[in-house]
Amino acid sequence: MRLSLRARLLVVPVIVVVGAVGLLTVLEHGAQRRWLLEHESETLVRLTREAARTAEVQAGSWQPATDSLEARFGLRATVIAGDGRVLADSRARAREMENHGQRDEMRAALRGGVGLAVRRSRTVGEEFLYCAVPMARDSAAVLRLAQPLVMVQHLSESLTRLSVAAASLALLASILVLAYVSGRFALRLRRLQVVARRIGQGEPGVRATESPDDDLGQLGRALNEMRAELDTRVEALRRERDDRERILAHMSDGVALLDGADRVVHVNHRFAELLDAARPPESGTPFTAFARIPELAEMVAESRRAGRTVSRDLKPWATRAGTARGTVTPLGGPAPEPVLIVLHDLSQGEALQRMRQDFVANVSHELRTPLTSLRGYAETLLEGGLEDAENRERFVRIMRDGAVRLQALVEDLLALAELERPDATLRRESFDLRALAAEQLEHVREAATRAGLEVVLEPGPGVLVYADRVRISQALANLVVNAVKYTERGSVRLSVGRDDEMVWCAVRDTGTGIPAEDLPRVFERFYRVDKARSREGAPTRFARGTGTGLGLSIVKHVIAMHGGEVSVVSRIGSGTTFRFEIPSGPR
Ligand code: ADP
Repeated sequence: MRLSLRARLLVVPVIVVVGAVGLLTVLEHGAQRRWLLEHESETLVRLTREAARTAEVQAGSWQPATDSLEARFGLRATVIAGDGRVLADSRARAREMENHGQRDEMRAALRGGVGLAVRRSRTVGEEFLYCAVPMARDSAAVLRLAQPLVMVQHLSESLTRLSVAAASLALLASILVLAYVSGRFALRLRRLQVVARRIGQGEPGVRATESPDDDLGQLGRALNEMRAELDTRVEALRRERDDRERILAHMSDGVALLDGADRVVHVNHRFAELLDAARPPESGTPFTAFARIPELAEMVAESRRAGRTVSRDLKPWATRAGTARGTVTPLGGPAPEPVLIVLHDLSQGEALQRMRQDFVANVSHELRTPLTSLRGYAETLLEGGLEDAENRERFVRIMRDGAVRLQALVEDLLALAELERPDATLRRESFDLRALAAEQLEHVREAATRAGLEVVLEPGPGVLVYADRVRISQALANLVVNAVKYTERGSVRLSVGRDDEMVWCAVRDTGTGIPAEDLPRVFERFYRVDKARSREGAPTRFARGTGTGLGLSIVKHVIAMHGGEVSVVSRIGSGTTFRFEIPSGPR
């Protein structure tokens, strides 16, 4: 049985108090009896001595003397001879009584002293206080007076009853005091216990009472100090954890920490993103339920078995190509060890590499065509073509066109390289975008009119912008030239305007249009919708050779550098509109 704290606090002191009171009562009872007996003994000795001095043998018998003593004092009187024989007794027949020579009090008296004893009389059956002294006249005989102890008994009992009553009262009072004190003590202890538990559960703002300043008050203070210390440490740990999580969250690699049972302890966002999951799993989720990549599970087992880091290239995606490098490191500790998984996406690097290869291939291809043609015609001329008066001018013209194409290609490549340099900067100045658009139209007007096209700048107020004039005019020129180049008949219209913080420019033509499936790709480098037409049509119409497939990617770069956007809307047969917008002021 479990006792409550209060009961336990009460039980031991109550047992001690009851024991002490009981012991005291017993001792007191003994002391009272001894005191009463001493008092009675003194009186009896005095009486017995008096009687021994005055008692006399009458007609050779002591019987009248014992009877008269009995009558006088109401006490049993006995006379024994020197050999212990009972000569007379006031309450029994002397002759029938056994020899009394060996009774303690008799032996002391026979030796000439005063004999005192307390005993239950074998003759009468009561407890007596005996006192025996030698007879004054006949020194051989001894007189003994016996006083029944009933009175002493009664007195002692009533005194004991009194002291028991007093002790019980004292006991009750002390139990009440103890109960109160232990109750308060238990209550304060319980409160401290509750506070300690709430501190343990991390509840904020919990404080223990520190008064009164006794042991429990000091315990309360110690709890409060512990709490403050805990708060500091928890705060430090929390900061450390937040820092770690921030670092993990912003890592470009996926990181996952698994416990020994392959359950998730922590997974950063990047890891979830790499596995196409919306968010990292809750901690405690079985890893295999989250990442269904058998190779990764095998690597975890292998790294634990071998006790070292295991790295491997994986193809984690079912829906797309690409490689990720997985690295699993066992973190030590009792087996099975927790492990750290790092997933590094290699597909971006792969894409970049592919882009570079494609670019070099494209550039080589673009250069090869005009170079081959140049070399071919030059050789034809050298091998007698110069004599051919009919064709030599045509050959030289073709060679010039080839050189123009080469120049255009090199210029566009240089422009792109310039734009893509990491330290490329804009030389901003304030200028009127409408005036710039008008300038660009003037550059193409002659060629356009020759082709029967109308070129129009929609009227409107000036549109001031703070931007890189040279680059914006480069972008605008590419859009305008394209519009004229890819329009057979109809018009090319430019409009310029302002929306809040942005300025915009739209180049609308009534040309061939761009098929919907090509639209998303027209801004890619070297992308041409109709390769044959793009390459052949341009040089005849413009001195600055185009048809490189780089014009729109230059536009896109320039506009992006200005923090703007370029878009295209097109319908086959009815025309195309390119529109860009950039912030009007410095960003
Ligand atoms: P290119 O030097 O070949 O014109 P661009 O990058 O300027 O290269 O354009 C890419 C392709 O987009 C062009 O080859 C052409 O097919 C298409 N294109 C661009 N502008 C227009 C337009 N205004 N109308 C129709 N097609 C266009």
